Amino acid sequence: MANQISGGCCCGNVIFTLEDNFSNFYFCHCEQCRKLTGSAHASNLFTSPDNIKWAKGLDSIKRYDHPERSFSKAFCSECGSGLPFISKSGKSLIVPAGSLNDEPSKQLDAHIFCAEQTDWHKAGLEGPKANGFPKQT
Ligand SMILES: [Zn+2]
Ligand SMILES: [Zn+2]
Repeated sequence: MANQISGGCCCGNVIFTLEDNFSNFYFCHCEQCRKLTGSAHASNLFTSPDNIKWAKGLDSIKRYDHPERSFSKAFCSECGSGLPFISKSGKSLIVPAGSLNDEPSKQLDAHIFCAEQTDWHKAGLEGPKANGFPKQT
């Protein structure tokens, strides 16, 4: 049996566990994923729809589905953190990697929709690194 990984939202309302058993892992740079995450790209792991046990907070989760196109997001109604959700097709559980408390063993398969990657992100990957807030000068 695969290791158990726990996850949850930032405010602690929602907690779940799942098996460290992911089929795919993508960083998606498309415009919709940027908007939905508010960040440079989505970091989504894929697993089977039944691979999750909600320990608490299921009733705190809101879901958004685009009316025409195939993108969705689940999030904590209190803190807005991205959370796992079943794809529109019903075939996959999509797990935002940042919602996990532990490192998954699955490594990235690919960056996708790279034509939509922002210049600020490309340039930012080369930026200076600090372990906390930057030093004020
Ligand atoms: Zn929350
Ligand atoms: Zn995307």
